[in-house]
Amino acid sequence: MKVLVINCGSSSLKYQLIDMKNEEVLAKGLAERIGIEGARVKHEPSGKEKVLIEKPMNDHKKAIEIVLNALVDENHGAINSMDEINAVGHRVVHGGEKFSESVIIDENVLHAIEECSELAPLHNPPNIMGIKACQELMPNTPMVAVFDTAFHQTMPKSSYIYPIPYEMYEKHGVRRYGFHGTSHKYVANRAADMINKDIKDIKIVTCHLGNGASVTAIKNGESLETSMGFTPLEGLAMGTRSGDIDPAIIEFLMEKEDMTIDQVNTMLNKKSGVLGISGVSSDFRDIEDAVSEGNERAQLALDKFNIRVKKYIGAYAAIMGGIDVLVFTAGVGENSPETREEICEGLEFMGINLDKEANNIRGKETVISKKESTAKVLLIPTNEELMIARDTKTLVK
Ligand code: ADP
Repeated sequence: MKVLVINCGSSSLKYQLIDMKNEEVLAKGLAERIGIEGARVKHEPSGKEKVLIEKPMNDHKKAIEIVLNALVDENHGAINSMDEINAVGHRVVHGGEKFSESVIIDENVLHAIEECSELAPLHNPPNIMGIKACQELMPNTPMVAVFDTAFHQTMPKSSYIYPIPYEMYEKHGVRRYGFHGTSHKYVANRAADMINKDIKDIKIVTCHLGNGASVTAIKNGESLETSMGFTPLEGLAMGTRSGDIDPAIIEFLMEKEDMTIDQVNTMLNKKSGVLGISGVSSDFRDIEDAVSEGNERAQLALDKFNIRVKKYIGAYAAIMGGIDVLVFTAGVGENSPETREEICEGLEFMGINLDKEANNIRGKETVISKKESTAKVLLIPTNEELMIARDTKTLVK
């Protein structure tokens, strides 16, 4: 069975074609600048040269059409005909309280995803566009939705309720939902496999540290609490997002800086985090370079990022009554030994003993704690696409 995995953003579309016989990636790529000038598809067929396809794409349907053509192309294709694609798995950001698992997409499901758009106005609409475009181009191919929020639906009410009037939850669904669920679930299961334990018997803290970043406490194989909340803005200091701040700052700045609520929102989502503190970049590579040139604000940005992760690890060990496994994943978590070292420093009292030599590695599944460390520290590259493909295969079969 071959599964096409689709992840649609507002102007981009990531895809992977996976042969589920051996979970081999046959081709992957990225369509960028959809609906704007300079649209292109970076297409990487496995075992062949990468190609850059520059063509106008007014919408997601056109982008998917170009991707499908690339997949069956004589020279840089990966399959002979579109009929070889047995199913499509779609990443959907917000499933609200309706979806605690992946589902086959039908009219009712699509309608329910549309209803969740109110909670994720930036993310769900492009996901829906991607689904509709695929349905038009592949009307007979089954499609599955895999939700970023689904894994966190196991959180107890005391974790997900906010301490504001309860009616706000009842009337408007204001609660913690959590995101990156597919990634947290994937690395937690890999972690249990790596140390030969049943996931139900271990207390895990997973740190997904990418441009967007979140930490999750996993007990009995279930998400117990996670740092992102009603939206992905809560929690850690991220590439450009503030994470936790005193909500009173919002009104204060609106008044002092004569800002509208939209401007404050943009500031907190796009101009804050490590970019905001450093003034250098949202990319950790640029910030680490600036630090090595003596830039103090870049150092401050990294310190703020690291200390927040450390705080969440401590908090989550406390609510779980201990920690057996600490996992690092995503762009920064997989590729920055310095960040992992700074975060783990001083956590020996919790049984976390990083092995600095083993930690000097990037992007490879590795145990990076010392033998005597009672909590194992693991580096695990995430693979959300594979999770989506596996769920798709299970449901379609
Ligand atoms: P997202 O999916 O949220 O966009 P990723 O998980 O791909 O993010 O992570 C992207 C981030 O990973 C980049 O912004 C960059 O800061 C960081 N990153 C990638 N490679 C390295 C590296 N070698 N050293 C430090 N940080 C890195």
